[in-house]
Amino acid sequence: MAFEWLNKFHKEMEKPVDYAQKTLAQYRLGMKAKGSIAGVAIAPDENGCAASKGLDATAVYHPDDAPHLPLPDCTKGRHCGCVYRPVMTYQMKSQ
Ligand SMILES: [Zn+2]
Repeated sequence: MAFEWLNKFHKEMEKPVDYAQKTLAQYRLGMKAKGSIAGVAIAPDENGCAASKGLDATAVYHPDDAPHLPLPDCTKGRHCGCVYRPVMTYQMKSQ
């Protein structure tokens, strides 16, 4: 599965400094390559920082337009549990 490496990040406590850039770049490539990725969603931290509570968890962003994680006003910084999730085209159709 192509996104296994992402799931590894999700289980770690601290995000790499380039988490947003690297992850969004992967989604951007995925969208160009096969067309199976419709966009990116943000799964907010379950133990939520105030910043992530303001996010729309159902919103689907283009990688170029997605808010960068961790959010600028996040109190947890790189320890924030907010993560990107790929939204596949088949998920879009079923909605
Ligand atoms: Zn946060």
